[in-house]
Amino acid sequence: MTATTIDGRKLSAEIKGELKEEVQRFHQAHGQVPGLAIVRVEGDAASGVYSKAILRIAKELGVEARLELLPVETTNEELRDVLLHLNTDRATHGVIVQMPLPAHLSQQVVAETLAAEKDIDGISPLSAGNLALGFPSFVPSTAAAVVEVLERTKTPLDGKNVVILGRSNVVGKPLAFMLLQRNATVTVCHSRTQNLAKIAREADILIAAVGRPTMVKAEMVRPGATVIDVGINALPEGGIVGDVDFASVSEVAGAVTPTPGGVGPLTNVLLLKQCIEAAWRQQG
Ligand code: NDP
Repeated sequence: MTATTIDGRKLSAEIKGELKEEVQRFHQAHGQVPGLAIVRVEGDAASGVYSKAILRIAKELGVEARLELLPVETTNEELRDVLLHLNTDRATHGVIVQMPLPAHLSQQVVAETLAAEKDIDGISPLSAGNLALGFPSFVPSTAAAVVEVLERTKTPLDGKNVVILGRSNVVGKPLAFMLLQRNATVTVCHSRTQNLAKIAREADILIAAVGRPTMVKAEMVRPGATVIDVGINALPEGGIVGDVDFASVSEVAGAVTPTPGGVGPLTNVLLLKQCIEAAWRQQG
């Protein structure tokens, strides 16, 4: 069997087309466009690349995005003040704080300060709690991207066995709640899981978010399963691979996302989608 390759770039283009129209509808209704603030504390080069990518997509969609670039010596109190200001700024509907922060800054301060209605990447305890309780909430955009891939490819979830490899707060855990809500039977594995390959082989849908290059091999995949690769691993010799060994898994799976070109292209688009949704909610 040769698996269908799920084309994340095509899905991303489709969603962007829908969101552009959504921004226009918002503008017609409210005379302004959705506003996004990206808070970045200098120090991590990679997060600068992510900021640029988000700004580019925002521009494409017609969302007014601005970068709040803070010096590396910013204190927790100063960062908190910036967020408190954004919480009350009426032109800002969504806020994202770029991670990682320098070591002296507290992620917890950020998560606890950001207003839940502007927390478009679902990092606050209130957002996480609402998600766990099944109430409406913003969710981490990578988890949202995975669910979007499954829904747009019409992958059945109801009653299906989903195995998630990885239990991080940004991917594994929120995904587990999102998929439970869609009536999947969810198993979450992590670095201490025993018999991981056996559990993975039970999956109708296998989601890899471990950060281990090509860890998921064909023998871990049930024939015909859908395999979603969240991993983005930079190789020392250059280039990027996922957590899934695409070549061997393609021989067994029914459908598989490639890396690059799978989940990645959807993540920032889903962030913007949640920003536009935040704008609608704040306008009542
Ligand atoms: P984390 O490092 O925060 O979490 C990794 C998880 O994988 C942990 O739960 C860890 O277990 C588990 N794990 C690690 N090694 C193994 C193993 N050998 N067997 C089973 N479980 C294991 O990573 P993230 O969740 O932030 O990211 C995961 C991957 O997704 C990375 O490659 C990252 O680059 C990528 N990513 C991609 C995004 C996108 O836009 N597509 C966005 C965000 C991340 P334990 O908890 O026990 O330590």
